[in-house]
Amino acid sequence: MHDIISKKVGIIGGGQLGKMLVSEAAKMGIYTIVLDPDKDSAAACLANKKIIASFDNRAALLKLAKEVDVLTCEFEHISTEALKYLESKGFTVYPPAEKLEIVQNKFNQKVELKKHGIPVGDFLKVHGIEGIKDAIKIFNYPIMLKTSIGAYDGKGNSIIRCEEDIEKAFMELGGNADSIYVEKFIPFVKEISVLCCGGINDEVVVYPIAENIHKDSILYETSVPAMISDAQRNNAIEIARKVYRILGSVGMLCVEMFLTRSGDLLVNEVAPRPHNSGHYTIEGCITSQFENHIRAVIGLPLGKTNLIMPTVMRNILGEDGFKGTPVTMGAYEALAIGGVRLHIYGKKETKPKRKMGHITITASTLDKAREKADKAHKIIKIISK
Ligand code: ATP
Ligand code: MG
Repeated sequence: MHDIISKKVGIIGGGQLGKMLVSEAAKMGIYTIVLDPDKDSAAACLANKKIIASFDNRAALLKLAKEVDVLTCEFEHISTEALKYLESKGFTVYPPAEKLEIVQNKFNQKVELKKHGIPVGDFLKVHGIEGIKDAIKIFNYPIMLKTSIGAYDGKGNSIIRCEEDIEKAFMELGGNADSIYVEKFIPFVKEISVLCCGGINDEVVVYPIAENIHKDSILYETSVPAMISDAQRNNAIEIARKVYRILGSVGMLCVEMFLTRSGDLLVNEVAPRPHNSGHYTIEGCITSQFENHIRAVIGLPLGKTNLIMPTVMRNILGEDGFKGTPVTMGAYEALAIGGVRLHIYGKKETKPKRKMGHITITASTLDKAREKADKAHKIIKIISK
């Protein structure tokens, strides 16, 4: 008999993903410590213990590592130097620094995927404005300018549709000639994501494929099952499993893909952690992505990933025009709609378009779930005091 439940998990990052990890760990009686610079972070308030420190504070990371059995991250923008230091001292980190290093640089990630034969759209390293102009000669308008490091929720992306956009896009992304690259714009018909989870014994489970709609590059809706053909589904799963073998280790990994007009799949990007497009798994699947991630990192058997019912997830963003202490309006009315589940992250400040929560609706059909999602989503608003 193993007493694995008494293992302690250190989570680097205290945002909503960390909070959902802590919450699933707590259900199984697993002790968690969260490290985050914000003393009021969403996850730290729920964890057994918090360490308030920046993500590259070696002393704090070492303290965390010494107090737990395994370390994991809720986001990928963490100093890999610091993680390598912990690994050199014999501590276990999932994802390992070597994998995280590749993934956290979007350009290097694409190079690695391409090198292994994973289908990706065309992309090119560019240096400054002249480089962007050269890339446009090859790809034509529109093109997607991206920062390689530190991007999230579309904040590191800018579309260039005409010559006037070039300088604006370059400056919008910080005007750093070395940290940008260009992607050919993919006129996709659908976006999907495939969530995978690897266990310590090399078993990899795959979740039902999610269909995603983004607005202004921010995830708006995830619906499951994805409305794609069986052949596309099988292809997506095969690609995701290959990607996991290249960039995965232990725990969750999300593979975002574009479905093109010709029916091909191109990998957009990979996140080596639980992902926003996997929030639907909390109510929609037998085992959530957060529970499976915790199970994976401490070596418990992975749970089944089957979909229980058609599910729609919508993000709740900070209302435009409001900044400050958040107030959730309309929760009573939204929760009166059968099948609506509400998640509010407990962030101390709302800002326009900041991810403040989400709703999940399960129903007997996707149409019914979406109808309810439309109603609930219109009612709930995050304003400020
Ligand atoms: P997230 O944190 O939500 O995953 P991100 O900041 O890492 O987002 P990307 O995934 O690169 O950004 O892009 C966000 C969205 O922008 C994509 O989901 C897609 O809708 C659109 N997009 C990104 N790259 C391209 C492209 N080459 N062609 C067309 N659309 C794109
Ligand atoms: Mg993305």
